[in-house]
Amino acid sequence: MKTAVGVLGATGMVGQNYITLLREHPWFEVRHVAASPRSAGKKYGDAVAGRWQPADDCDPRVGSLTVEDAGDVSGAAAANKRGDCAFVFSALEMGKDETRALETAYAAAGIPVISNASAHRWTADVPVLVAEINHRHADIIPRQRKNHGWDRGFIVVKPNCSIQSYMIPVYALIRAGYPVERIIVTTMQAVSGAGYPGVPSLDMIDNIVPYIGGEEEKSEKEPLKILGAVGDGVFENAALPRISAHCNRVPVSDGHTACVSLEFGGKKPASVEAVKKIWAEFRDLPQEMGFPSAPARPVIIREENDRPQPRKDRGAGGAMAVVIGRVRPCGVFDIRFTALSHNTVRGAAGGGILNAELLKHKGYL
Ligand code: NAP
Repeated sequence: MKTAVGVLGATGMVGQNYITLLREHPWFEVRHVAASPRSAGKKYGDAVAGRWQPADDCDPRVGSLTVEDAGDVSGAAAANKRGDCAFVFSALEMGKDETRALETAYAAAGIPVISNASAHRWTADVPVLVAEINHRHADIIPRQRKNHGWDRGFIVVKPNCSIQSYMIPVYALIRAGYPVERIIVTTMQAVSGAGYPGVPSLDMIDNIVPYIGGEEEKSEKEPLKILGAVGDGVFENAALPRISAHCNRVPVSDGHTACVSLEFGGKKPASVEAVKKIWAEFRDLPQEMGFPSAPARPVIIREENDRPQPRKDRGAGGAMAVVIGRVRPCGVFDIRFTALSHNTVRGAAGGGILNAELLKHKGYL
């Protein structure tokens, strides 16, 4: 029998991707959808009419569910007791403090929260999970529950979508014994990353916007928590790599591209070919366990000079793989490359679902 789950922020850009990706999921089934009071009380299909973004039509079964008010935690707790909402994916876009308070209230009510929002990323005992990198960080959950006096609830989050394309390759190099000391990265980020209705259309025709509020800080800091260690019930950040990020909004619908230059801190791979081999062979727990949303190859190398490209490569590995091309020596650091990942799938709903699969595998769900 499938586990019944809820989606908070179900009507938004990421929420719609959850509904789409969970339609045929072998383990989970959406039975609770919630959004703002503007959508609450409507049938889900009516609430998203005119703003539905995924290519596939909305799942009619979910379309007929009534949208709940995400602020109604006791209603969600009742759904949890009925067996209709074992845990929630959170794709809320509201004030940071409000989001943090609401997600905390769900956890306190006994409902685990797997969040895409940034509100809890710097909460000391909340793991920022990328299943292929730091799945062991999930094991802080019993301590987190103890810290807060929660019995069944907990909170895990996933990182910002801008770092997905280069953190798995960087981690693969570190795991292979080549610590990375410095990174300079320039991202070209899709408009779907700005939610709905997003960036004004006039800014995105014949144009690039060289600023995304808060994105550069997240890109520079979140990797240090992901690569960090579990200390005494809280996370301790890694000291390296030092990262300098330039984040740009570009006229692409889906798929964030990153141009990366990196420097190793000590031992270096023998050649560009050696780096490519590490990436091509990289697998971790999600692949070894065959989680339903895990791409068979988390990193795919393209040898053509003009790849990766968002339109051609964002769907690779069920839109869960990172596609890398143009791997070459760097005149200033050691190597440089271009990497691409799908921001609303690997970078948002798909990454959240993969985290849920990991948590179920570990027995926390
Ligand atoms: P979005 O399209 O603006 O959707 C926001 C959702 O939040 C909608 O369902 C909306 O409901 C709901 N909401 C807004 N105000 C609310 C309130 N006061 N109470 C309850 N619900 C409320 O945003 P998005 O792009 O899907 O992003 C969702 C979250 O994922 C954000 O935290 C974002 O930072 C994060 N994220 C997004 C991406 C991406 O690529 N888009 C990637 C990674 C992470 P209504 O429809 O009723 O207004």
